[in-house]
Order: sequence, then C-alpha cells, then structure tokens
Amino acid sequence: MFRWLQNHPRFLEWAYDHTQRLFIWLQPLLAWVGYGRVQSILLVGEELSKKALFDCRLCGQCILHATGMTCPMTCPKNLRNGPCGGVRANGHCEVIPDMTCVWVEAYERAQKMGVHGRDLYLIQPPVNRRLQGTSAWVNMLTGIDQINPPGWIAISEVSVQGDG
Ligand code: SF4
Repeated sequence: MFRWLQNHPRFLEWAYDHTQRLFIWLQPLLAWVGYGRVQSILLVGEELSKKALFDCRLCGQCILHATGMTCPMTCPKNLRNGPCGGVRANGHCEVIPDMTCVWVEAYERAQKMGVHGRDLYLIQPPVNRRLQGTSAWVNMLTGIDQINPPGWIAISEVSVQGDG
C-alpha cells in the first residue's frame, strides 16, 4: 500500500504541500507555545507517519519534495544529490544488490509529480548531522534547516540537458 502511494506520488506531493502550508499557518501559535515544547510531539508524528510511508531516518532536514517523495537517507551512502557511480546495470544498488537504487526510484517518481518534479534538479547542501533525530517541521519553521555550512555556495538549479 505505502509503496503504491510512493510510486504514484501526486497525492503525497499534495499532502506534503498542504501539511507545509498548515504548519506555516500555525507558526505563530507554535512559536508562542515554544518550539522546544512542540518538538517532541511533532517528532512522534513524524516518526509514525514518515517512517511508515518513506522509511524516514529522521535526518531533520526533509527534502522529500525534491527527491520524488523518496527518502534519500535510505541510500546506504546517504547521497542527497543523485546516485553514486556504482549503480548496477539493472538499476540496483552497489552496496545492497537486492535493492533498487534510491535515485532510480527518485527519478522515476519525480517524473510523475507536479510542480515539485523539477525540484529533483536542485543542488542540496550537505546534510547537517546535528539535526539528526529532530523534527524536520520544527526545523523548517525555525529556519535552522536552511543554514548552510560556511563556504557553501547555493546553486538554485543546474541546467537540465535539453533545456533551452
Ligand atoms: S529526508 Fe530526512 S526527514 Fe525526510 S523522510 Fe528522509 S530522513 Fe526523514
């Protein structure tokens, strides 16, 4: 069931967008209550929902909308910017031969998405390991997930082959 949903990611994309809007709308209230207080509650919600749906590893810096609603942290190498050079000819993982490469799935699913399909081409900054085990929603609201390492130069989008 969950896999079917992932392979038909339009609904998940819609749900993600609406959840994000809801949290942004609730931001003043959550800030008033205190992010520290709501963190534990939201983390339980994320564990229950995203673990079941996406095998979420609670990296605290969610980029599902930019990876075809496929969790990049399930890649054995935790790659967040596309596949490594070891993808097998059958599209399987170099490290776990029985597993389809996370990035093959991410690419195929991104083709079925709406506006976020092109987000696959965004260059992701290195993941901040200090956010591991924290709520990605809280980190989005506080903006801590947007703080990049010193020296990191954000490139909004690489040119896609075939683009004019
Ligand atoms: S990107 Fe991070 S927060 Fe999002 S599903 Fe994967 S591990 Fe969880």
